[in-house]
Amino acid sequence: MTRPVRVRFAPSPTGHLHVGGARTALFNYLFAKQRGGSFVLRVEDTDLTRSTSESEEAVLEDLRWLGLNWDEGPDVGGDFGPYRQTERLHIYAEHAEALLKAGKAFPCYCTDEELAAKRKAARAEGRIPQYDGACRDLDAGGRAAREAEGRRPVVRLLAPTRDVVVDDKVRGSVTFKREMLGDFIIMRSDGRPTYNFAVVVDDALMRITHVIRAEEHLPNTMRQMLLYEALGFEPPSFAHVSLIVDKDRSKLSKRRGATSVAELREQGYLPGGLVNYLALLGWAPEAGEELMSREQLVERFDIERVSASAAAFDEDKLDWVNGHHMREEPLPEVAARARPFMEASGMGGLDDRYLEDAVGLVRDGLSRLADLPGALAFLDDESFAVEGEARALLEDESGVSVVRGLLAEMEDDGGEVDAAGFKTSLSRVGKELGLKGKALFMPVRAALTGTTHGPALGDTASLLGRDKVVSRLREALALGASK
Ligand code: GLU
Repeated sequence: MTRPVRVRFAPSPTGHLHVGGARTALFNYLFAKQRGGSFVLRVEDTDLTRSTSESEEAVLEDLRWLGLNWDEGPDVGGDFGPYRQTERLHIYAEHAEALLKAGKAFPCYCTDEELAAKRKAARAEGRIPQYDGACRDLDAGGRAAREAEGRRPVVRLLAPTRDVVVDDKVRGSVTFKREMLGDFIIMRSDGRPTYNFAVVVDDALMRITHVIRAEEHLPNTMRQMLLYEALGFEPPSFAHVSLIVDKDRSKLSKRRGATSVAELREQGYLPGGLVNYLALLGWAPEAGEELMSREQLVERFDIERVSASAAAFDEDKLDWVNGHHMREEPLPEVAARARPFMEASGMGGLDDRYLEDAVGLVRDGLSRLADLPGALAFLDDESFAVEGEARALLEDESGVSVVRGLLAEMEDDGGEVDAAGFKTSLSRVGKELGLKGKALFMPVRAALTGTTHGPALGDTASLLGRDKVVSRLREALALGASK
């Protein structure tokens, strides 16, 4: 019987959510949604010195912002909790106890110093340093004697004597050689589990069917497969996705640009754009499309098509993908996400409807939300200025005549400006003056926006509203007269 699909994202809350982690979470999410499965969030916080609750909250917040909502997790609960490893310590202890009882694991009393000395000796003799089995066959007396010395044991798994083969969905069949491994530690002397032990106990008890995670965990899979066997659990399928590297194939580094979701959010990417771009890091749908909505990603994602080679993070491409989402996503959503960027530029006072119209007017051709305040700066009287080429147009005689003619039209007709009416007035002016095309539009654009390029003139005028249009035309006329 096939089990219902259950996948998990298992962040360690030791910092921000980076693009690599976000992509891993996304692949899990897409896989779960496509198969009608569950996406579980598990917080791996057993590294007490590095884990913080602030980091946990920040990582969860970034995932929420990306829209990668989980079905089970520390905040929403679920049938297989708790979902924070530090709340599951008793569960690991029970399973370690069961392995000890079954003779599949044993307590080891070797001290760090003893082990370090043996490792050194092995290296000196050219051997691979490995646990030598010193405590494997201790009897009750031997253990008691060591306990009496005050030694506190770790628990080691009795590693079987054969190779392990894993059929990885991304990397194909991977063989791990027996020689790579000694009896490894599953519980530390302070009662905390090691990473591999906790992950296997959790994945098994949480009924995880597919483990999709970063390539760096591939070497751990050998130990984890042995643990599944020892514990009598059915192992999941594995898919290890490749690293994300810089455009020049070196390690992705903060020095060269944003690497965390929080930074990319601040730079003005939309969650839909970032999700689309992250999905393309190492994957492409069969038909090769690159611009996709979340629904299309869910429909098309195929873990078997994920590439085994490293994917390069390319900001230009991210801008291009995000630009598509700036244009295509529902306007009210884009406008709502634009608001903090407008506020930060001192343009916070716009009401919702107006902001939507404003964003709708200029969003074509922009890459990020952060480009909006600049593109809409002409709305703001305080920053409005006419310089350079635009100014020259308004100082020119022909420009002056256009502005004067249009102003007269506007003063005649007292109603609110709408795009169509404005264009009609302008062409009337053109006819009177015998001007059309650029000669007619450019001075008006310069007068209204202070620039020589921008969105459709009629829409721009209607967004500015009658009062501003008239006052800017008057100002333009004054510029012309002052020359
Ligand atoms: N907690 C691990 C990490 O942050 C992930 C473990 C796993 O996916 O198996 O890298």
